[in-house]
Amino acid sequence: MNYFSIMIARDRFMDGIRAYRQEHPRAVEQGKKECCRSGACCWARPGTMTKEDVTRAAAHFRLSDQEFFRTMLVVDDMGGGLCVLPRRRHQESLAGRYVPTEETYSLKSPCVFLEQTPESKITSCGLQRAKPMQCATTKCWEKSSGTNTEIWSEEDLRRLGWDGDKYEHDEDDL
Ligand code: SF4
Ligand code: SF4
Repeated sequence: MNYFSIMIARDRFMDGIRAYRQEHPRAVEQGKKECCRSGACCWARPGTMTKEDVTRAAAHFRLSDQEFFRTMLVVDDMGGGLCVLPRRRHQESLAGRYVPTEETYSLKSPCVFLEQTPESKITSCGLQRAKPMQCATTKCWEKSSGTNTEIWSEEDLRRLGWDGDKYEHDEDDL
């Protein structure tokens, strides 16, 4: 993607997030100081994971870290380095791989672990107590919340099973 395509994708992404928040107001918009389970943060960006988060969540499903990575996680390049996060629901073909830019800014579906029925505005996390620390500490009503994104080394990512490819491809490939 060139610079202008990225800017357009980001603008669409922000418009999509604003539209979701109008339909599903966050705690901060309701003047609350506790999570109302709007799911807005899980649609905007699945929480990034530390090595401990990956091991804890993999154990929740009785999987090895590598099996869990290959089916449920992706690698992205945000915040100055490589990070690991849950894939979105529709990103099955990207599991265990690097996310191209158009998918980083995709709002086609939320975090794969978000449980949300169309008739209910209340969401829940399928990882329950095994959710990433960044998710567990996010409070939209506070200016600064959520733990920092852990930057992974290529060596640690390869240990998890990453192929090392940082490819970009057209939307038609997905
Ligand atoms: S923390 Fe996330 S799920 Fe909870 S109210 Fe805020 S945006 Fe919604
Ligand atoms: S892991 Fe759970 S809390 Fe975190 S983004 Fe996904 S659904 Fe939301």
